[in-house]
Amino acid sequence: MANFGDIIGHEDIVRHFKSSMELGKVSHAYILNGEKGSGKRTLATVVAKMLQCESGQPDPCGTCKSCLQVESGNQPDIIWVQHEKPNVVSVDEIRTQILNDIDLKPYSSKYKIYIVPDAQLMNPQAQNALLKTLEEPPEYAVLMLLTNNIDTFLPTVLSRCIVLNFKPVEPLSMMEYLTGQMGLDQAKARFCTDFAQGNLGKAVRLAISPDYNEIKEDSIRLLRRIQDMEMDEIIEAVRNLGKYKLDISDYIDIMTMWFRDILMVKISNSPNKIIFKDEFSVMKKQGSRISYEGIENVLQAMDKLKVRLEANVNFEIAMELMLLTVKENL
Ligand SMILES: [Zn+2]
Repeated sequence: MANFGDIIGHEDIVRHFKSSMELGKVSHAYILNGEKGSGKRTLATVVAKMLQCESGQPDPCGTCKSCLQVESGNQPDIIWVQHEKPNVVSVDEIRTQILNDIDLKPYSSKYKIYIVPDAQLMNPQAQNALLKTLEEPPEYAVLMLLTNNIDTFLPTVLSRCIVLNFKPVEPLSMMEYLTGQMGLDQAKARFCTDFAQGNLGKAVRLAISPDYNEIKEDSIRLLRRIQDMEMDEIIEAVRNLGKYKLDISDYIDIMTMWFRDILMVKISNSPNKIIFKDEFSVMKKQGSRISYEGIENVLQAMDKLKVRLEANVNFEIAMELMLLTVKENL
């Protein structure tokens, strides 16, 4: 039995598929991007079951012919693309299982759904073979490419698919990964884990950045004396951070961590649970100046700033608004 209730997490992806279906806006090509073992196959199965369910409801009924066929693994209009060799999905496999089949109308359902597990193993020839279909798919066709590495796709393939990313990784698993496989010490792993907020790739990016120490130091230098700085000075400092190859939103995340630490210091009056342990005395000082409400205001302002930056508003104005909130409350 596979149903939406069996899927742990990934609420955003589930919501995306359900609302696409309700709005009649199901796309022809999806990339489900997530780590191995993150539940991509289960989710693809449930989504396919939903699309084909005779009830037409965003929760598969489980009792119609199609649902029963999904349960027994032989829904004729849901095709799982197989590959023989362990490390490649070949162009021949794409041809025989997708291209030579896709023009035949669905056997008994609304859609014809092709699911390619291990799509990261499609070599460039296989991907190129798929391009024309991605450009001009039959009306009833839906392709789902499951991958644990989105970087293997040609830009031309990527641009024709809706990419849905699986997230987030639990902090504990991330710590284990960073201290184990990557060999980071606890402090750095903790910093990267908190910074990454469940996105392992982001944690790794910071961890292996040759500028890791400078990024951290520059951010701290700014935060230490932010209450004494003029607005122009702060904006300049934030802009300077741009020389490191992180996104501006990454620095907002670091600043968010700083204020979460201050909150922790206010609550516990101890350096035990904070990320910026060396800054305990500064945090105590800032913590004595800022109220709980003030911290909440600051954290909200940072969230808002990230949303604004994603919406491409003017950088300086958005940044000034956020920093004003910080100064007002500190
Ligand atoms: Zn059904």
